[in-house]
Amino acid sequence: MARKKIIAGNWKMNMTPSEAVALVETLKPLVATEDADVVFCVPAIDIVPVVEAVKGSNIQVGAENMYFEEKGAYTGEISPNMLVDAGVKYVILGHSERRGYFGETDADINKKMKKAFEHGLTPIMCCGESLEQREQGVTMDFIRQQVKIGFQGLTADQAKEAVIAYEPIWAIGTGKTATTEQAQEVCGEIRKCIAEIYDEATAEAIRIQYGGSVNAATAPELFAQPDIDGGLVGGAALKPDFGKIVNYK
Ligand code: PEP
Repeated sequence: MARKKIIAGNWKMNMTPSEAVALVETLKPLVATEDADVVFCVPAIDIVPVVEAVKGSNIQVGAENMYFEEKGAYTGEISPNMLVDAGVKYVILGHSERRGYFGETDADINKKMKKAFEHGLTPIMCCGESLEQREQGVTMDFIRQQVKIGFQGLTADQAKEAVIAYEPIWAIGTGKTATTEQAQEVCGEIRKCIAEIYDEATAEAIRIQYGGSVNAATAPELFAQPDIDGGLVGGAALKPDFGKIVNYK
């Protein structure tokens, strides 16, 4: 069965609540499609107004992070329950900026993955190598480790619902998109890794995105690859160009 594409914007720490609503109004008609799932992953403070603003459209709302505890003395954190109650469906976990700037480990991300599923949220789990790792030839060893630990203890049914975003760190926000061949090669290897952990049916079902400087010009070829099921888009998700990325065909 063909996998439905999923194209998600990662707004990062951009857009005040009023700017966010204005951006949704601009993008709403441009991202209308039934061919792909369209997700806007927005800063926590923008979630409530964005959920309201997307009503009646095909856009689903995602968070950029969440904590793995239910509630309590975790100043500054957001719980899965808070996200669900606010109308969130997806949550980005383990973005390289969270790993790099905030010290998130594979074990933390695994706890978050389990919590997301407990609450009916769909995780978009990010993985990807640094330039140094690519040059040392350890890309796949590193990513396999990220995927294996991230998915530890998840059932095959949960894994089938999850989304993995392959985001080479050297391509994020740099304007340097991975070549189509590089992106397809790693996404194909990630699918093989899922088949090894679970089985072929799970590997066939899971959706794997590419992320890293995707734009309207590079999206069509990237998204046409057999193991690339859409994209996680940063900079270009804040522009009308996102409409072209979503309607890349
Ligand atoms: C991202 O941050 O997930 C990302 C892919 O950013 P950009 O598209 O700007 O490289």
